[in-house]
Amino acid sequence: MRIREVNLFVNSPLSNLLFEKYFEKIYGDRWPQLKQSLFVHEKQILRKNLFVDVDSAKLKDLEPAGFLPDAYWKPEGYALQKNANGLYDFYVMDPASAIVARALEVCGADKVLDLCAAPGGKTLILAEQMSLAESSGVSGTLISNEMSEGRRERLMRVLHEYIPKEQRLFISVKGLDGNQYGLRNAETYDRILADVPCSGERHLFENQKEFALWTERRTKNLAVRQYSLLSSAWLALKPGGRIVYSTCSISPEENDAVIAKLIKKREPIILRPEWLDKIKFLEKTLSGYQILPDRAGFGPMYFAVIEKPNPVSV
Ligand code: SAM
Repeated sequence: MRIREVNLFVNSPLSNLLFEKYFEKIYGDRWPQLKQSLFVHEKQILRKNLFVDVDSAKLKDLEPAGFLPDAYWKPEGYALQKNANGLYDFYVMDPASAIVARALEVCGADKVLDLCAAPGGKTLILAEQMSLAESSGVSGTLISNEMSEGRRERLMRVLHEYIPKEQRLFISVKGLDGNQYGLRNAETYDRILADVPCSGERHLFENQKEFALWTERRTKNLAVRQYSLLSSAWLALKPGGRIVYSTCSISPEENDAVIAKLIKKREPIILRPEWLDKIKFLEKTLSGYQILPDRAGFGPMYFAVIEKPNPVSV
C-alpha cells in the first residue's frame, strides 16, 4: 500500500477544522481510520475489455478480484498496452465503480442514458453488458452524456480505444446539461445512470486550496445540484425503469439525503438486488449502499438503486 506523500492533517497549516468536526460527528470512532484510508492509494482492478479477445497468456499471472467477473487486481506499476487491433485489453478502475455500473442491470434492448459519463469507465461496462447479452445485436441505445467539453473528448477517446468501430454504433455521445433531459425527453429511458459530480473527499485531499475552502455549505450546495440532476433523471425515466444514483462522496448530505428528498417528493421504489447482498464489503445505508476504503481498500462510493413505479403493472 502506498501512502500519499503529503499528509495534510499532520503536516499542513491548511488542515480544515470544519471538515474534521463535520465528519467526526458523522463517523464517530471510525473517523480517524476512515480519514487515514483516504490517503492510501486505493486498490484498483484491471477490467478485461470484453469487446476484444484477450490473449490468455496475459491473464495467467493476474489475480482475479473474486467478487467481480472479468476483473483482476492491478499489479503495482502495470502498464497498459494496445493490442494488434489498436485497442486496450484492460481498463483500470476502482472496483467500486464497476459494481455501480453493474447495478443498473442493462440489457441490449434497453434505452440507456449515462447522464454524467466522462471519463467513461462505467459507460464501457454498460456498453459491454448491452452488447454481450444479445447474440442478435443490440436493438437499444446508449446515450453517454457529458457536459464538459474537455472531459467529453476524453470520453470519446476511451470509447475509441476500447470498442471496435462497428460495435459502437448503438452509442451516442452527447454534451447536454444533464438537467435538461427531464423536460426534453420525458419518460424516454429504461435505465439511467446518474453518477453525479460530488465533493470527492479523496481527491479533495490532493488539492490543498480546494481542501482549505471546504465548508458544510459546499456539501449542501452540491446536494442541491445533485438533486436537480436526479430529478431530471427521474422525469426522463420510463415507468417501470431503473436509476442508479451514485457519488464518490462520504458525505451523507450528498448520498442518502438526496434520495430522501426524492422519496419525499416522488414515490420511488428502493431496490435491494440479491446479488449485492453477497458482496461482503458493501455497507447498507438507509436507502443505498456505501463502499468505504477503511474496510474495502477502495472507494469511497455511494449508490442507490431506484425504480419508478409502473401504474400499468400494479
Ligand atoms: N461516470 C463517470 C465515469 O465513471 O467515468 C464519472 C462521472 S464524474 C463523477 C461526474 C461528471 O459529471 C464529470 O465529468 C462532470 O464534468 C459531469 N457534469 C457535471 N455537471 C454536469 C451536468 N449538469 N450535466 C452533465 N454532466 C455534468
